[in-house]
Amino acid sequence: MASVQILNFCTYSVHGLREKKVISKKRVIFGVRCENGGNNNVYVNEDYGDKKKLKVLVAGGGIAGLVFALAAKRSGFDVTVFEKDLTAVRGEGRDRGPIQLLSSAMGLLEDIDKDVVREIMETGYVTGDRTNGLADGKTGQWFTKFDFLTPALQKGIPVTQIICRMELQRVLLNAVGDDLVINNSKVVDFVTDANKVTALLENGQQYEGDILIGADGMRSMVRSKLFGTKDPKYSNFICYTGVAEFHPHYLPPFGYKIFIGRSSYFVALDIGKGRMQWYAFVREARESPLPSQGNKNMLLEGFGEWCDEVITIIHRTQEHMIIRRPIHDIDMLKTWGKDRVILLGDAAHAMLPNLGQGGSMAIEDCYWLIQELRNLVETHPFHAISSHEFDLAFRRFEKKRMFRVGTVHAICRAASVLTAFYSTYFNIGPLPLFAQKLSATKLKHPALLVSSTLLKFALPKFMKWVVKGIPVTQIICRMEQQRVLLNAVGDDLVINNSRVVDIVSDASKVSDLLS
Ligand SMILES: Cc1cc2nc3c(=O)[nH]c(=O)nc-3n(C[C@H](O)[C@H](O)[C@H](O)COP(=O)(O)OP(=O)(O)OC[C@H]3O[C@@H](n4cnc5c(N)ncnc54)[C@H](O)[C@@H]3O)c2cc1C
Repeated sequence: MASVQILNFCTYSVHGLREKKVISKKRVIFGVRCENGGNNNVYVNEDYGDKKKLKVLVAGGGIAGLVFALAAKRSGFDVTVFEKDLTAVRGEGRDRGPIQLLSSAMGLLEDIDKDVVREIMETGYVTGDRTNGLADGKTGQWFTKFDFLTPALQKGIPVTQIICRMELQRVLLNAVGDDLVINNSKVVDFVTDANKVTALLENGQQYEGDILIGADGMRSMVRSKLFGTKDPKYSNFICYTGVAEFHPHYLPPFGYKIFIGRSSYFVALDIGKGRMQWYAFVREARESPLPSQGNKNMLLEGFGEWCDEVITIIHRTQEHMIIRRPIHDIDMLKTWGKDRVILLGDAAHAMLPNLGQGGSMAIEDCYWLIQELRNLVETHPFHAISSHEFDLAFRRFEKKRMFRVGTVHAICRAASVLTAFYSTYFNIGPLPLFAQKLSATKLKHPALLVSSTLLKFALPKFMKWVVKGIPVTQIICRMEQQRVLLNAVGDDLVINNSRVVDIVSDASKVSDLLS
C-alpha cells in the first residue's frame, strides 16, 4: 500500500451556506492524492459525496457556443452543446471566406486552450503585421492607418489574423469533441426552477442542467424567451460579399483596407493564396428588389467612379461568388441573463460587421464568463449553487463586459451612419459658375477635413484599445495577487508540481491519520 502523506488538512466550516442539505455546523476534512509518487490523502464528507460538477447546456454551436463549450470542458464542467445545423454557421462558411480574429480574442483563447490557438495560427493568415485602415473610396488614398502589431507585441499575444470560418469551426469542434455537440437539435424552449434549468428540443427531448448558455445568434430564441421578442434592427445597408481569385500585386501589401464613400463603403481583405475577400455595403431599402442586371453589374455601376483597386476587385469576382444580404444588429440590452440563463456573442449583442468585431467579442465573452463560473464553483465546492448565486455571477460578468462591448457596438453603428454624410469633393448639385470652378479644382469637402482629422486621431486609438483587450494592468494585477497570496501562505505550505489526480473517500484512513 502506498505510504500516506498528508499534504494539507483543511478544516472547512460550512456554516452560513444557504444550501438546504447543510443543516448543522460541520467540520469537513479533506485530502487529495497527488500524481507525484502515490501520496494518499483522504477526502471525507459525511453528509454528501462527490464534489459537484457543473452541468452546462449550450444552445448554439457557432463561435460563441463552441468556444464556451471548450472553456467549460477545460474547466472540468460537464457540457452539452445543441446545434440546430452545424453546416450552416450563419450560412457564411464556405462562400463567405474568412473571419478576422483580433489579438485581444486570440490572447484570451490562448488562455483557454493553447493548442487551439496554435492550430488557428497554422491554418489562418496573419494580417495584423500589415497596413490596415481607412481610405477614400474615390482616390484610394489612405487617410488613417491602424497599428495592430504594436499592441500585440507589447502584450505578448498573437497578432490579429484571419481564418476561414469553416476551418475555425472544424478546429473548435475537434477540440470540444463530437461527443459533446448534438447536431440537428434545435432548442425551442427552456424552463428554470430553483435547482435546475431544462432545455426543450424540437424533437421532444429534454435536457437538464445547472445553467443554460444562449449562444444561438442574432435571432436568439433564448433572448426572446428571457426579454421578449424584438426583431433585429435593419442597418439600412445591404452587404454584397465576394472572394476574388486575384491579388493586386502592384500595391504595397495591406491586411484590410476600408474604402469609404457617400452612403457606401467597400472593405477589401487580403486572405492569402492570391485571393481577396471583399464586402460592399450599399445603402438600400431592405425590401429593394434583387438587381435585375445581376449583383456584379449593379456593383460595377454603383462603384463606377471609385478607385481602380475597388473596381478591379469587383471585376475579378465571378457573379456566382457574390452573396447579397441585408445587415442587421440588435440594440444593446441592459442585462444579458436571468436566474440560470445567460446570453453570449451575437445573441447578447449582435453588432454591425463593418469593423469585423462580433466574433472576437463573442470569444472574449466566453473567457470572462468562464472566469466567473470557475470562481463560483471554487467557492461552492460541496453544495449546489443557487439560482441567486448564478444571477450574481452573471451581473459581475456583465459589469466586466458591458462597457467594452457597448463601445464597440456603438462605434460600429456610428461608422455606418457617418458614411451618409461623407463626400470626397464638393458635390452639392447644380452649381453657379464660380462653384463649378471650385468643384473642378476638387477641393476637399470641409466635412471630410473635420471627420478625417477626427478619424486620424480617434479611430486608431479606438482600434488599439480594441486589439489590446483587457488592460495590461489587470493581468499584472492577477499575477501580483498570486504573489501576495503566496507570500502570505508561505512557500513551505504549498507543494508545487503536485497535480491532484484522485480523491479517496475512506473514513477509516482519516481516523488512523488523526489518531
Ligand atoms: C458579413 C459579415 C462579416 C463578418 N466579419 C467578421 C469578422 O471579420 N470578424 C469578426 O469577429 N466578426 C465578424 N462578423 C460577426 C461574426 O460573424 C459574429 O459576431 C459571430 O459569428 C457570432 O457568433 P455567435 O456564435 O454568437 O453566433 P452565430 O455565429 O450566429 O452562431 C449561432 C449558432 O446557433 C445556432 N442556433 C440558432 N438558433 C438555435 C437554436 N434555437 N437551437 C440550437 N442552435 C441554434 C445557429 O445555427 C448557429 O450555428 C461578421 C458578420 C457578418 C454578417
